[in-house]
Amino acid sequence: MKTIEEVDQYVVKDIRDLNESTYVLRFNRGIMEFKPGQHVNIGINEKGEHREYSIYSGTHGDYVEVLIKEVDDGLVSRRLRKLKPGDQLSIRGPFGFFLADAKPASNERLLFVASGTGIAPFHSFMRTFPEADYRLIHGIRNIDEAYDKDHYKESRYFSCTSRGNRGDYNGRLTDYLLEAEEEKAEKVYLCGNSSMIYDAMDILRAQGYRHDQIFTEVYF
Ligand SMILES: Cc1cc2nc3c(=O)[nH]c(=O)nc-3n(C[C@H](O)[C@H](O)[C@H](O)COP(=O)(O)OP(=O)(O)OC[C@H]3O[C@@H](n4cnc5c(N)ncnc54)[C@H](O)[C@@H]3O)c2cc1C
Repeated sequence: MKTIEEVDQYVVKDIRDLNESTYVLRFNRGIMEFKPGQHVNIGINEKGEHREYSIYSGTHGDYVEVLIKEVDDGLVSRRLRKLKPGDQLSIRGPFGFFLADAKPASNERLLFVASGTGIAPFHSFMRTFPEADYRLIHGIRNIDEAYDKDHYKESRYFSCTSRGNRGDYNGRLTDYLLEAEEEKAEKVYLCGNSSMIYDAMDILRAQGYRHDQIFTEVYF
């Protein structure tokens, strides 16, 4: 796999708003090769601040997408949203090994657990391997954070809303994991904020999952 360090020119192709604070940023792929689960570091110019963003799109297109939530008072997430098609980006990467072991095999069921934009690597995986046997549990506040829900087969995507009553489960993701009788998976992948990940890991361990079956990607 090639690692690209500032050798290619990247430009914004599109910014697609998903709700008031979250958007999908698309840029040209250039010669970048990546695997689902990897992330890129994005900045507006080479010398300025960069932040990590998991790749959201599948590996087959001629573009790369990332899913970004604007953080209050955040530096980069808010600046990127103001860009226009044709504007330049500084991209480093891809980096990381999250999902590297998640290969679609007919006998391997995968459990994906995400909070908020932590759904991004699973979206990339599902776009790349639509035939994979996975179940995705998505912890969000309100249903408007069920990003591109219609991209997933209905039986595979399950939302847990901590506010409002329009989720598949109305309550916190961790409460759902405690109560649910989810079919056991071969491997479990957790992505998002650290408190969700630590709490979910404790629950999964108590349910009998071994350490070597659980993989994590912490955003903040
Ligand atoms: C491997 C990796 C992959 C990531 N992938 C994504 C992704 O796909 N999409 C995405 O939106 N973010 C992702 N992040 C988080 C992202 O890198 C930035 O931290 C985030 O966009 C905030 O950057 P900022 O410059 O706007 O805020 P800053 O000026 O850096 O300040 C951010 C402050 O908010 C906190 N913070 C960071 N992210 C959040 C959040 N989502 N909600 C609330 N508080 C937060 C930080 O801890 C910090 O205190 C990822 C992080 C890592 C380490």
